[in-house]
Amino acid sequence: MLTVALQSGSNGNCIYVEAGGKKLLFDAGISGKQAAVRLAAKGRDIHECDALILSHEHIDHVSGAGIFQRKFKVPVYCTRPTYRETKKRVGPIDNVHFFEAGATLEFGGVRVHSLSTPHDGVDSLCFIVEHERRRLGIFTDLGHPFPGLQTALEAVDAAYLESNYDPDMLWNGTYTEWAKQRIAGEGGHLSNDEAADLTKAAISPRLKWLSVAPQPRK
Ligand SMILES: [Zn+2]
Repeated sequence: MLTVALQSGSNGNCIYVEAGGKKLLFDAGISGKQAAVRLAAKGRDIHECDALILSHEHIDHVSGAGIFQRKFKVPVYCTRPTYRETKKRVGPIDNVHFFEAGATLEFGGVRVHSLSTPHDGVDSLCFIVEHERRRLGIFTDLGHPFPGLQTALEAVDAAYLESNYDPDMLWNGTYTEWAKQRIAGEGGHLSNDEAADLTKAAISPRLKWLSVAPQPRK
C-alpha cells in the first residue's frame, strides 16, 4: 500500500492511496491542476484514479470535487447528506455513488471502511483502507476523541491522525472567539494534546507509521 498526502491543512486536503492496483483519492480540497501535477510528480496519472471518496462537505475537502469528476472522470463516492451540502458549495456533480455512513466500500480487493465522527459536517466520516490485512487509517476532522477512535487507531498499521492546535496558542491567538470555541468544541478538531494521548494509548507493535500533520480549521 502506498499513500501520499497531496495536501493537508486549512488550505485543502487530498490524500492518495494505492493498493491492489486500485488508486483512490480521499477528499478533493485542492485544484484539479494541483492534484494532477502532484500525482504526476509521483509518476501517477490522475485520470487513472478509481474513486474520489469524500469525508464531509467542508470546502477544504471538496473544492475540487466537481473538477476531479468532470475533467479527470474520477467517480465520486459520498453519503447523500454530504452530497446535498457539497452541491451547495461546488455545484452538481455527475457520476456520484452513494453509500451510508458506516458502510464498507469495495474496490477489487481493497476495502474502505467508513466510520462516523462527531466533527461538524452534516455526515462526517473517517476511513480505514484495508488490503491483504494491511490497514491505513485516515483519521482527520474528528471533533473530539470519540468512542471507538482509539480502537480504530489500534487496528491499523499506519495512520493519518488529526493534530490540529495547541490550546495555549489557540486561546491566546487572533482567531475570533466564535472560531476558537468552534475549533476546540465537540464538533471541531483534536488538539495536539488529545492526539498525543490517543497515540500513546494506541501504541502497539501493529502501528508502524503515523502522520500528525496539521489538519484544517474548517
Ligand atoms: Zn471539516
